[in-house]
Amino acid sequence: MPELPEVEVNRQGLIPHVVNKEIAAIRTGSKNLRLPIPRNELQRYVKGSRITAIGRRAKYLVFFLEKAAMIIHLGMSGKLGIFAAGSPPALHDHLIFQLQDGMEMRFNDARRFGFVTIHTPIEIQQQNPFVKLGPEPLALPRLKEIQSEALLQWYNTFTESHHRLTPAYFKNRAGTRLQPIKNFLMDSHVVAGIGNIYASEILFTASILPTTPIGSIAESGWQRIHTAIINILSQAVASGGTTIRDFISSSGQPGYFQLELKAYGRDGTPCTTCRRPIVKSIIAGRATYFCPHCQH
Ligand SMILES: [Zn+2]
Repeated sequence: MPELPEVEVNRQGLIPHVVNKEIAAIRTGSKNLRLPIPRNELQRYVKGSRITAIGRRAKYLVFFLEKAAMIIHLGMSGKLGIFAAGSPPALHDHLIFQLQDGMEMRFNDARRFGFVTIHTPIEIQQQNPFVKLGPEPLALPRLKEIQSEALLQWYNTFTESHHRLTPAYFKNRAGTRLQPIKNFLMDSHVVAGIGNIYASEILFTASILPTTPIGSIAESGWQRIHTAIINILSQAVASGGTTIRDFISSSGQPGYFQLELKAYGRDGTPCTTCRRPIVKSIIAGRATYFCPHCQH
């Protein structure tokens, strides 16, 4: 499942291929995604418009058009790739945006948990669509290319109500609750964009057991968690960034998991710190990897 770094890498990979290009035509498959594909709105607000910028909030990609906007969520298995117009479509290509230069941006999603929404010129004057999301762990992309004042103001609302992500924010939010730290980090209302893989990696680096009740974590623990979040997510974006060329290859596969994982998926292999084996256990239905010796 793409987490924040994979979505950010997908965004960066698309920019040189689609920004400032006009969408000449749109083809949609017959199946719906998590939400129905807004076929009429796509034809009315997206077709014939130029993509002026691509932004992101949490795991949502925001395509700024000339007057409207389109938000794409990749869900469990979605990806956006660039293909030559004549190349055969793949199974599970649900949306094809034909660009004026003969290339196509295709949204492929085998499990169909992704979705597309269109935000009309009237809707963007109203509200922040992400008002319930927690703070962004990395800074949001700065988009100087948005020319419409209304769209720029709308983009600014994405973060206006949210707290800054700090160790104190986590400590306040946790209070005296008994929820395990891993579930807390994966709650998008607490912090945006962290899923199962990076939650394991962050807690390994912060030396904290995934089952630790959040109310018992001291300030120094929150500081280690906060530092680990920033470092691991930015390293993942940077290492994914080196595979952008591969991402644009005909396979359309984004460069997932180029970051060398130290805990996730490594059960039975030696911990990089103490050489004792990494352990796998199921916590709240999700595979969780940790070193019982180094994390406490
Ligand atoms: Zn260890």
